[in-house]
Amino acid sequence: MFLDSERMKDDGRFDPGPMSSAWERLRQRLRSELGEDVFSSWFARMELERIEADVAIVSVPTRFLKSWIETHYVERVKMLVTSELGIEGGFAVEVRTVNREPARAASGPRTALASQAPAAGAPITPPPMAAMLSDHLGSPLDRRLSLSSFVVGRSNALAFAAADRIAALVGQPSPYNPLYVHAGVGLGKTHLVQAVAQEAIRLGKKVAYFTADKFMYGFVSALRAQTALTFKEQLRGIDLLVIDDAQFIQGRSVQQEFGHTINALIDAGKQVVVAADRMPGELESLDERVRSRLAGGLVVEIGPLDEELRLKILSARLATLSTVHPTFHVSPEVAAYVAHVIVTNGRDLDGAANRLLAHSTLSGAILTIETAEAAIRDLVRLREPRRVKIEDIQKLVAARYNVSRADILSERRTAAVVKPRQIAMYLSKSLTLRSLPEIGRRFGGRDHTTVLHAVRKIEKALTDDRVLTEEVELLKRMLMD
Ligand code: ADP
Ligand code: MG
Repeated sequence: MFLDSERMKDDGRFDPGPMSSAWERLRQRLRSELGEDVFSSWFARMELERIEADVAIVSVPTRFLKSWIETHYVERVKMLVTSELGIEGGFAVEVRTVNREPARAASGPRTALASQAPAAGAPITPPPMAAMLSDHLGSPLDRRLSLSSFVVGRSNALAFAAADRIAALVGQPSPYNPLYVHAGVGLGKTHLVQAVAQEAIRLGKKVAYFTADKFMYGFVSALRAQTALTFKEQLRGIDLLVIDDAQFIQGRSVQQEFGHTINALIDAGKQVVVAADRMPGELESLDERVRSRLAGGLVVEIGPLDEELRLKILSARLATLSTVHPTFHVSPEVAAYVAHVIVTNGRDLDGAANRLLAHSTLSGAILTIETAEAAIRDLVRLREPRRVKIEDIQKLVAARYNVSRADILSERRTAAVVKPRQIAMYLSKSLTLRSLPEIGRRFGGRDHTTVLHAVRKIEKALTDDRVLTEEVELLKRMLMD
């Protein structure tokens, strides 16, 4: 098939493109990790069919191969699909129909795919990106997420002011380019960047809005459809590009394309707006140059919602629900109570509003603080576990082992320092969501393989060293409480 690089090279006419080289890299890694024998027994005839809803669909010629791969190699292939193809949703194996194999070989790599009738029940490859053009390009927008429905408070005032200004300026050179908005989950990033997109559309500007997965998917399917148009070219005519959840952009070729795209747009004076759950410097999956380009515009953070802001957001949501359900009424006391106890984010406030609605429609009774408490109890309990900081781990572990934090970060390799350092790395991996490269950086700029080695070493020691197990448990408890 067209991604089979050997055939493509023989053919000579075709540029394999970034996706096929990514697929080829995946195959090479399987080959080197499993050895030639295993590889040629099970994977030699595995081909990439298509990407669908962020899942890589691969095919093999027989049912037996399919079930063997599924039972023995799921995790390994899944990991490679993520690291090499940048696909998060895993992979699925299909059996190729018999009559497809010779047809493919005969018709050559490029035309083969298009000339195949889809197998019965097989989903049709979605249209290339250009076909999605309606009033904008990319992912759908939620009309409710507008600038006017965005409630402004202390923690989001700067982000809102920037967004509001940029939305009005789209099409003219802006001093805030790119605008980079970062915040934890549910604090209003998507709401704000979608609002910018919609405002620009309202003002008649050409807009592209992509969630990271849609961007990756669009990139891959543009390649698959062989339109030969890069994103950069497809996006040439737009005035504003918005990328949401940029932390999910992964895969070498995709992140390169992302870098090219934003560089080209910014250089051409087009506005770029990016939202992510971390600062630009912490986007580990992106190249250093892309990170610094993202950091080079205006970077704004949305902080945790204070109680006043939570109450305003909740009240707005309740008012919206009341327009649809006229009998639904929440007293100011109950609303204040809910805004007081739901401290996490806008998403949980939405959840609380929906539970109040369900409770009041089901019971028919007027909501009191007691009934409201019962309705939202699970949300209150679900409060995010305490965030452990790598710095705190380093301090605590250093104190426990009578070394300094500087020792832990240093190059020193004496046993007295190595052990606490490895324990601290292990705890950082198990108690935080940080990636191995990020942890490495926080430990004096070490390589991720060093961190991995430490984590494995401690994990292994924990299986037979009772004293160490107790120590580590104790440290964990001290950090979590
Ligand atoms: P994020 O993308 O940061 O995870 P969202 O933008 O999806 O968060 O926000 C989660 C929910 O909270 C959405 O329903 C959103 O409308 C609401 N929300 C968050 N902040 C605000 C705000 N300032 N004003 C109005 N609604 C908000
Ligand atoms: Mg979001």
